[in-house]
Amino acid sequence: MAQSLIQMKTPLVEMDGDEMTRIIWQMIKDDLIRPFVDLQTEYYDLGLRHRDDTEDRVTVDAAEATKRLGVAVKCATITPNAARVEEYGLKQMWKSPNGTIRAMLDGTVFRTPIIVKGIEPQVRCWKKPITIARHAYGDVYKNSEIRVPGAGKAELVFTGEDGLQRRKLIHQFSGPGVIQGMHNLDDSIQSFAQSCFEYALATHQDLWFATKDTISKTYDHRFKDIFADLYEAQYKEKFEQAGITYFYTLIDDVVARVMRSEGGFIWACKNYDGDVMSDMLSSAFGSLAMMTSVLVSPHGYYEYEAAHGTVQRHYYKHLKGERTSTNSVATIFAWTGALRKRGELDGTPELCDFADKLEKATIDTIESGQMTGDLTRITTLPKVQKLDTEDFILAIADRLK
Ligand code: NAP
Ligand code: MG
Repeated sequence: MAQSLIQMKTPLVEMDGDEMTRIIWQMIKDDLIRPFVDLQTEYYDLGLRHRDDTEDRVTVDAAEATKRLGVAVKCATITPNAARVEEYGLKQMWKSPNGTIRAMLDGTVFRTPIIVKGIEPQVRCWKKPITIARHAYGDVYKNSEIRVPGAGKAELVFTGEDGLQRRKLIHQFSGPGVIQGMHNLDDSIQSFAQSCFEYALATHQDLWFATKDTISKTYDHRFKDIFADLYEAQYKEKFEQAGITYFYTLIDDVVARVMRSEGGFIWACKNYDGDVMSDMLSSAFGSLAMMTSVLVSPHGYYEYEAAHGTVQRHYYKHLKGERTSTNSVATIFAWTGALRKRGELDGTPELCDFADKLEKATIDTIESGQMTGDLTRITTLPKVQKLDTEDFILAIADRLK
């Protein structure tokens, strides 16, 4: 007899994607979710063909739906480049869906390694996950640069709408060199800070933030002040009640502390620091396929995804009929993250409980020695069995039943 399915009050925004992760997406729904949950979603096909058919309108619609419904789960998608324009015969080199969605939701991306026994961090003192929160606006990613050809004066000039100018000497060049101008916005830094404080409260973890304000006395100092002011005004009491702390230090000091830490905190990073440090962290913890990623907007919208791409190389093997062993853990955790958040917001604890069980079944499967090829290569477990893409998901389904 079929067991009764867990009911949902509000649908998730479901954003389907591309290549190998699109294959995995379907398997996860069919084998791991629908047998247990009466899954309700508003479906948006962000697969590249459909983005092209809709002139990328579908990406905007999906982001709008996330603002309306609050929680989304997203499959990895192709960000078109010249090769993809040719491969898919695209009308245009559409922008990165993640970029479009992030700009519309104004969020911060939090990435956390999924820890399992047998996949040991390279840093021996790390016992708990370290979550990176990366500011995703401005700085060197939206800069202007000039290659200075020879002797001359470089200045920083700001002209206000009232016509008033501010001017500062950058350098009096006596020979060739380079200059760079970058910016950030109080609003964007404020949203970043707010998302970090909210996420720390939601996950009951300390928040660390670092910049180089001793050297960058205006630019980085602005980040430090905005965080500090918001903390004092809105979060100090909440943090004290929750028994968590906000800690500010210098970026070089924080790196040293992270390497000596046990983990178990959120590390907020400026855009460039987050870019570099998240790659260090994910490889030191094991693998990109074992990282969760969630976009948290300051308005309380959540979008869950995997941190990796569409695993193109495996997809082409799959198309040739060859066996693949693609790790679905990060995509499974995108679904569990979204289902759990939906359950929290709707007051449906059965849904949260199901998310916990599915995560546990996934971790138990790996810890029992059944895993995909990317993990068999790095595991310290003595007896392991390499499973192909679908068999790994079916092994989790068996355990879940
Ligand atoms: P990728 O999909 O992350 O894969 C790079 C390599 O990492 C794979 O070839 C594979 O190594 C390994 N890998 C990644 N995820 C894995 C998994 N789940 N299981 C096993 N191995 C895994 O990056 P890519 O191939 O450079 O990019 C492919 C497409 O993804 C691009 O079109 C890019 O635009 C898109 N992308 C999307 C997102 C997103 O939507 N969030 C993020 C990044 C990239 P081996 O081949 O050695 O097995
Ligand atoms: Mg990077």
